[in-house]
Amino acid sequence: MATKRDYYEVLGVDKNASAEDIKKAYRKLAKECHPDLHPNDKQAEERFKELNEANEVLSDPEKRARYDQFGHDGPNMGGFGGGAGGFDFSGFGGMGDIFDQLFGGGMGASAAQRRNAPMQGNDLRYDLRISFEEAAFGCEKSFEFTRSENCDTCHGTGAKPGTQPKTCPTCKGTGQVRVSGGFMVTVRTCSTCGGTGKVITDKCSACAGTGRLRRRRTASVKVPAGIDNGQTIVMNGQGEPGRNGGPNGDLYIQITVRPHKLFKRDGTNLHLELPISFTQAALGADIDVPTLGGGKTTVHIPEGTQNDAEIRLKGQGIQQLRSAYRGDLILHIRVEIPRRLSEKQKDLLRQFEDASSGKEYETRKSFLDKVKELFNG
Ligand SMILES: [Zn+2]
Ligand SMILES: [Zn+2]
Repeated sequence: MATKRDYYEVLGVDKNASAEDIKKAYRKLAKECHPDLHPNDKQAEERFKELNEANEVLSDPEKRARYDQFGHDGPNMGGFGGGAGGFDFSGFGGMGDIFDQLFGGGMGASAAQRRNAPMQGNDLRYDLRISFEEAAFGCEKSFEFTRSENCDTCHGTGAKPGTQPKTCPTCKGTGQVRVSGGFMVTVRTCSTCGGTGKVITDKCSACAGTGRLRRRRTASVKVPAGIDNGQTIVMNGQGEPGRNGGPNGDLYIQITVRPHKLFKRDGTNLHLELPISFTQAALGADIDVPTLGGGKTTVHIPEGTQNDAEIRLKGQGIQQLRSAYRGDLILHIRVEIPRRLSEKQKDLLRQFEDASSGKEYETRKSFLDKVKELFNG
């Protein structure tokens, strides 16, 4: 099942945002993540789609009101008048039923579309941003999110306490009506009850008969050490409530890891570019290198270390998710050639050059030998 993020969160606006605020937020974000600016970036494309969907609902006062009541069920639920732009499955449902009768089921979708059947609630998505270190070492995070819940006053029935929803007189509680059209009988969702099979005569005042209320909730999640950017943690049953006795949906927490100033990550390995001076490279040196989490370790750079050399520190990388294994820290040596030398330094280097025999530079010597062969053919 596709997961959905709260539309207000998608647009980055408050639940009480004005129509103008929503329009502004949408324009700004749409510019930022327009697919033309991010060719071949699947994530940007998804984000753009999500943004348009959120805008379509929140910019329409009627759809927005339904969303505020029902969450993601609201805008498209035909039963509550969400016809235009929404999905009307009634035709397919009818076909499904006919096929079900002919082939003994297996068309699948029709049962789920019968709106008085038990259905799992919608899954929700929350985007959680954590630091590089939090991902590496694990953390516990609490966050706020919005979901629709069953109304406490009527326990989700939508009927005034003390009253009960009544069986729909039009469809006799089946949620469907049969319509003959030519040689085929189609089954349509009952328009009186919206397919629920029940009508509410005395509406609950707390939820205006919808049975649902939008609530702000705080949840806490344990993020395991080693989680990576784009991975998801599922909190079972923390999504929107099921209908007709169906189970709750789940809450999917999608992790975004903020980049680190120094370290780069590749699975369980860490990479660090380590600039050293050309004298350190030539003579060798012991250098303090930062490790993730604020520590440091002393690393020996051997005499004659070349640019782009790699030094691997075993077990100093990132812990593998749900395992004791730790990857490596790989140092990428960048030998820096000094600039803006003083006259004294230049003199010393000239003396150094004069004292060179040429065999100090293996690669250069072999190159020059090949050039010589080429010309002497
Ligand atoms: Zn209620
Ligand atoms: Zn009905």
